[in-house]
Amino acid sequence: MYEGVNASDGIGIGVARVAVEPDLSFTPFTPDDAEAEKERFASARDKFVAQTEAQIERMTETVGEEVAAIMQAHIEFATDDGIKDMVFGSIDSGMCAEQAVSEAYDMYYTMFSQMEDELFRERAADVADVKTGLLADLLGQELVDLSTLPENSVVVVHELTPSMTADIDKDNVAAILTETGGRTSHSAIIARQLEIPAVLSVPDITSNVKNGDMCIVDGTKGKVIVDQTPKELEKYRLEANRLAEEKAALEAFRGQPTKTADGIEKLLVANIGNPEDANGAVEHDAEGVGLFRSEFLFMDAKELPSEDAQFAAYQKVALRMKDQPVIIRTLDVGGDKEIPYMNLQAEENPFMGYRAVRYCLANPDQYKVQLRALLRASAFGDIKIMVPLVTALDEIRQVKELVEECKAELKAEGVQFNEKIEVGTMVETPAASLIADDLAEECDFFSIGTNDLIGYTMCADRGNDRVGYLYTVYQPAVLRSLKRIIECGNEAGILVGMCGEAASDPLLIPVLISFGLGEFSVSAPSILRTRKTISLWTKEEADALTEKVLKLKTANEVKAALQAAAK
Ligand code: PEP
Ligand code: MG
Repeated sequence: MYEGVNASDGIGIGVARVAVEPDLSFTPFTPDDAEAEKERFASARDKFVAQTEAQIERMTETVGEEVAAIMQAHIEFATDDGIKDMVFGSIDSGMCAEQAVSEAYDMYYTMFSQMEDELFRERAADVADVKTGLLADLLGQELVDLSTLPENSVVVVHELTPSMTADIDKDNVAAILTETGGRTSHSAIIARQLEIPAVLSVPDITSNVKNGDMCIVDGTKGKVIVDQTPKELEKYRLEANRLAEEKAALEAFRGQPTKTADGIEKLLVANIGNPEDANGAVEHDAEGVGLFRSEFLFMDAKELPSEDAQFAAYQKVALRMKDQPVIIRTLDVGGDKEIPYMNLQAEENPFMGYRAVRYCLANPDQYKVQLRALLRASAFGDIKIMVPLVTALDEIRQVKELVEECKAELKAEGVQFNEKIEVGTMVETPAASLIADDLAEECDFFSIGTNDLIGYTMCADRGNDRVGYLYTVYQPAVLRSLKRIIECGNEAGILVGMCGEAASDPLLIPVLISFGLGEFSVSAPSILRTRKTISLWTKEEADALTEKVLKLKTANEVKAALQAAAK
């Protein structure tokens, strides 16, 4: 069993095809005719550009225009005048085209790979890709061809370059394994777009796996099993078949409104972690974004992201989602979410310490950078602000005051924003649940964060297996808390949603319908399945089941009753 970065969800089972990289080594020489050498370079470049253009055309059909545009960066790096001048200068000073190309692109590679911003660092892979393409042509070498593969191939390659991914024969590739790359690399983005399970950065996988080995790739968990037992193979085959059948059947729910069997409409939105995830939300037919965990922008950076950088990220999501609602949670730092450069002091009990809205309100100047960015982005879509880990009413009041301050500043600067931007509470603490009636008066919406609410209600750490029997949404204490929060919100006439994992739990959905939950925010791949589950229940049926369930005294009894009633 090997582990790596879970870059693209799903289970892929197939036969390893270890792609051998071409030998691009060369012996430098001094050309007799510099002009002819420049011609060699120019012709390699023109050929590379023509090939890339053809790739873009193919990709536009397979993965869509936006992702295909990624390859545009290759054309830019290949035709860049600065790089060309450098190559020509080197040739004039006596270098052969191979060496001139190597040196110029290596310099750009080093420059990009040392940049602080991860997105820029990832561009280094594009630079390397262009260098490989040009060198291969100059040396008359064939690049790894992934466009013609036998059925059920598991592609195993040291580095999956964007151009290799672009050529991949989607129908025949069961999974992708690499030794490099992170979740935000272009290869990962394209793999997700193609819905090919992928595990990246698996150490030494090209030497540990041999051509022809049977591989099980779990792209959701980031696991690879090579020497599997027949029993394991059978288990994963069944699971993969089940997932495939379920996925195909769910297509009937695409483009349909989300409503109960008796026609009560619900809002079905997606949880996202970075702006690119908005594409997945749209593709899976989400009706908006119910939780954008903005801390990922902070975690992916080396220092606090500037107002402009944050604005660009929020604006991107707003534009992608058009007029659909987009709830962005302000920085939820601390607890299990560490951001090294913030230098937060170690605490005895970080889950009950200086975190989330507590940290933000103690650092108002820093918080206002985020609030201003959110307000500016609100001019481009239906952005709403959500405050995490609220435990007291004054916290939400103080956030709203800061929002007002930011509005006044932006107005004075002549910057556009949505005057009526909504501010809501993420209800994820027992305290917020107990004062939900008062909070509802101050808020424009609620979204229940069951992941934390369960933990804090049951005093059971969400990451500790030994108390896992307590950490469940089926605990009567948790159910009563959910009922109360939803009722308080509904009485005040505000939308109550849920963005914790429980929102997509098919067993719990009838109970949530009965309580009157208005919005379900789930991971993008769960959208269609959640729409289906909601469609199976009438309010009356859900009420009857919930009445029974609320009389039960233990989590096991609740779960058993819900399982028995499941449709
Ligand atoms: C939650 O607590 O339920 C939630 C959705 O937020 P996170 O998992 O990011 O804490
Ligand atoms: Mg939380």
